[in-house]
Amino acid sequence: MTDPRMLLMTHPDCLHHALTEHAESPDRLRSVMATINASPRLAAITQRLATPATDAQLTLAHPLALIEQLQNLEPLTGHIMVDQDTYMSPGTMHAARLAAGACIEATRAVLTGEADQVFCAIRPPGHHAEIDAAMGFCFFNNIALGAITALAHADIQRVAILDFDVHHCNGTVDIFKDDDRVLVCSSFQQDYYPNRYLDYENSHIVATPLAPGTCSASFRQLIEDQWLPAVNQHQPDLIFISAGFDAHKDDPLAQIELEVDDYRWITQLIKDLAKQHCSGRIISSLEGGYHLKALSDCVRVHLETLIEP
Ligand SMILES: [Zn+2]
Repeated sequence: MTDPRMLLMTHPDCLHHALTEHAESPDRLRSVMATINASPRLAAITQRLATPATDAQLTLAHPLALIEQLQNLEPLTGHIMVDQDTYMSPGTMHAARLAAGACIEATRAVLTGEADQVFCAIRPPGHHAEIDAAMGFCFFNNIALGAITALAHADIQRVAILDFDVHHCNGTVDIFKDDDRVLVCSSFQQDYYPNRYLDYENSHIVATPLAPGTCSASFRQLIEDQWLPAVNQHQPDLIFISAGFDAHKDDPLAQIELEVDDYRWITQLIKDLAKQHCSGRIISSLEGGYHLKALSDCVRVHLETLIEP
């Protein structure tokens, strides 16, 4: 039986941010949703359409000038590049607002007690988006907007953002570097994109670099050694997951050798922490993952693990 306390936030318009042959393509979300809908257990999770974040919501993390600048850059046809990696097409801003809106609504659903866990099946991703810069396929920092929404609630004093995407969450660190209410733990391939904030040190920012070729056993040991004590000391009232699946061994963008089962393992570990500290409350949002089969297999085990009683 599916836990009725789980929600899945998504929107088909997230497919309208599109550039043929780009790694961050609409096929990623199509593949994830097809896998979810093909599984009787996962298809039984209540799905809800995201609503786009307003300017007022986006300015919780980003200046209005950036939002307006991006809105003005969006092309009417074809595509333009915001940086070497990050494209905009017609529909990009709406998709980016939906991705941010999904995380904000997911957080509200958990805060009101409507759900214990929410997964946001959205794109574009968000964790590279800094306060003042879209970069690395990201426009607005979806998970950070969720965390800021949570911290505005009287019952929420501290949150944790756990990011197992293969790339460092420079944007999330940029937003929370001076806010020790937010523990940010990030595992990432060392000396790799985005090469920003990698050496930033603060007690509430935990960097877990992974040497190229890192396999399951070393990854698990590092997470247990570095993340568990940090989360236990922080005692979060809510846990957020930046759920990127590009550390899988088949991913074309990086050289880390994780298996599908490692995502079952880390999801269970985070679920146990959430049970211990915050009544099992988790908001997870899709970040990277660029091998379609590996991505959808990893999302499947992530959700299967979350909905287990
Ligand atoms: Zn990534």
